[in-house]
Amino acid sequence: MLESLKKMFSGNEGEIPVNTGSKPDISREKSAALYEKAKTFFPGGVNSPVRAFKSVYGTPLFIQKGDGCFVWDADGNQFIDFCGSWGPLILGHNHPKIREKVTEVMQSGMSFGAPTALENELAELIIKNNKHVEKIRFTSSGTEAVMSAIRLARGYTGKDKIIKFEGCYHGHTDALLVKAGSGLVTFGETSSLGVPKSFAEETIVIPLNDTAALTAAFDQFKDQVAAVIIEGIPANNGLLIQDQEFIDFLQKICKEHQALLIFDEVITGFRLGFEGAAAYYGAKPDIVTYGKIIGGGLPVGMYGASAEIMGHISPDGGVYQAGTLSGNPVAMAAGIAQLTELLRSGFYKELNNKAAEFAESIQRFATARNYAFKVFNVGSIFWFAFTDQTKIQTAEAIDPASMEKFKVMHRELLNRGIYLGPSGYEVGFVSAAHTKIELEKAKRAIFDALDLVFRNK
Ligand SMILES: *Cc1c(COP(=O)(O)O)cnc(C)c1O
Repeated sequence: MLESLKKMFSGNEGEIPVNTGSKPDISREKSAALYEKAKTFFPGGVNSPVRAFKSVYGTPLFIQKGDGCFVWDADGNQFIDFCGSWGPLILGHNHPKIREKVTEVMQSGMSFGAPTALENELAELIIKNNKHVEKIRFTSSGTEAVMSAIRLARGYTGKDKIIKFEGCYHGHTDALLVKAGSGLVTFGETSSLGVPKSFAEETIVIPLNDTAALTAAFDQFKDQVAAVIIEGIPANNGLLIQDQEFIDFLQKICKEHQALLIFDEVITGFRLGFEGAAAYYGAKPDIVTYGKIIGGGLPVGMYGASAEIMGHISPDGGVYQAGTLSGNPVAMAAGIAQLTELLRSGFYKELNNKAAEFAESIQRFATARNYAFKVFNVGSIFWFAFTDQTKIQTAEAIDPASMEKFKVMHRELLNRGIYLGPSGYEVGFVSAAHTKIELEKAKRAIFDALDLVFRNK
């Protein structure tokens, strides 16, 4: 999502060049017509920039229906979907348990702006099964959760500066729409028009997986850092799996400087396991943020911490944060239904094994043919990288030129009934609804696409 932010301004309209592959291009007549109409209503024809297909060929597909691991577009093309609404759909599309619960709750009305028992129910499911939070607050998006977590950290510590890492995306809140300037430790430069320079100066941006940069940042901004925010495992700009030593060091240095550690687990929460990346690393973040999976496909975000830290949130404390539709009963119902399924014993083991097998077998194919291609995988998240590096842990290590190969692959996969997010910087997700049969089909399509990408190697 980070990269697509830049792409939004780059104006590649994605004209489809002549297809030199073995499959004809799918029909996009109806999608293309809908897109033309959408462009008269919405900037770029979309309500979130990456959906506009600026980084791949062709016009965006308008989705009509989803079921299990499949989606169908307006032209009736069927795809095995690895985007999963960008992560929330860990059980696949239109899961019967979620649909039934939501439908049942909706019969009694859709919003009250007053507390409901459903909020307690979802909160109890989370807090009972997660050692990182004692109290929580629901929001309506991941962005809101992160924005509130930052305010909480500032309110709690009485300090203003935030350290973030280049290559991490935390939603579109002003304080975090910043990128690194030149030099090891820098004030952020805004990465969007409309963000005041003075806001960006409160955010320090440093490279991932770099203990020296972290030390230098804390030295330079002594006693000013309220919090360090990091994605549980950075998965918005490639999949940048951090070393255990780095996460350990990060915790240690935050403690030394009385800065809070915020794990933004909007993707990784309930994805790597019920307790997300914090459990994966055995880390103890001070504040965690969730989104995506937590709402079962409806708009829910959440931030949480110890009871002591959360005691600073209004009305208990002086940090203000609110939401007309926060804890919306229909959204809570979807979250309850989804998280209940995730708590079944063996759920993650089965899902993660399936994803690992999928990733490994694609890697074996590429390696056997000497293709400069690497499948990075953690839990049920995977990322296809056109590289011969065995590790990619920073944004700087990604070669932008490799994205041309992804473009070709994306198109070949669409033509073979496989839907990936429309950018080579985005990760893919395996859901519980992907059966061995569909994963096998997807693999064959991926092998064919790789052969085509590397044909003129
Ligand atoms: C998606 C995402 C967000 C933003 O969530 P929205 O619901 O899109 O506002 C924040 N942080 C991370 C790590 C994300 O992946």
